[in-house]
Amino acid sequence: MKVNKAEIVISAVSQQQYPNDQLPEIALAGRSNVGKSSFINKLINRKNLARTSSKPGKTQTLNFYLINELFYFVDVPGYGYAKVSKKEREKWGKMMEEYFSTRENLKVTALIVDIRHKPSEDDVMMYNFLKHLELPVLVIATKLDKIPKNRKGTHLKRVIDTLEMDPEDTLIPFSSETSEGKEDVWHYIDQIVK
Ligand code: GDP
Repeated sequence: MKVNKAEIVISAVSQQQYPNDQLPEIALAGRSNVGKSSFINKLINRKNLARTSSKPGKTQTLNFYLINELFYFVDVPGYGYAKVSKKEREKWGKMMEEYFSTRENLKVTALIVDIRHKPSEDDVMMYNFLKHLELPVLVIATKLDKIPKNRKGTHLKRVIDTLEMDPEDTLIPFSSETSEGKEDVWHYIDQIVK
């Protein structure tokens, strides 16, 4: 897909604010600093439409980006920030629950993990949360450029094993630096939104 138009439509804090045009949605989740904003920006060829790293203390919102007037990327606030207060974490949890457990337009969630590292406990929790809701997940193992080519298989296997990935879910290695995996991701998205 060639992206001609990408615009932020709403930063929502509650259900009443979600768009109601019934377009398909692809959610994007990952721990803070994993490379989620870089992933979105690379996919849509923008330098910084998606703001990088939502820092703790800032308002946590679900950001709906309308792409080619065809579908939405829904950027979910990053998790796993050690400094976030208990109250903020609870608010985050409530917002996630509200979106993921009720949203019929949600087609798939792209869970972004760092290919260099074993998925964290928070990554595993996020994956299990989505599977508990019986939602399909597209796992993106990003920062592929940071590992030697001959380690790729080993690192991908560690992601699959640690998340105990459902065989029906897809795993795509990716790099925002080299654009590796970008075509595979678009191919996957094309199937979903057409
Ligand atoms: P976010 O907090 O998940 O949105 O993470 P960012 O997109 O802001 O990325 C965090 C840091 O990782 C930034 O310094 C990025 O430049 C870097 N980064 C993100 N993706 C990649 C990648 O694929 N390769 C490399 N080498 N660095 C990346």
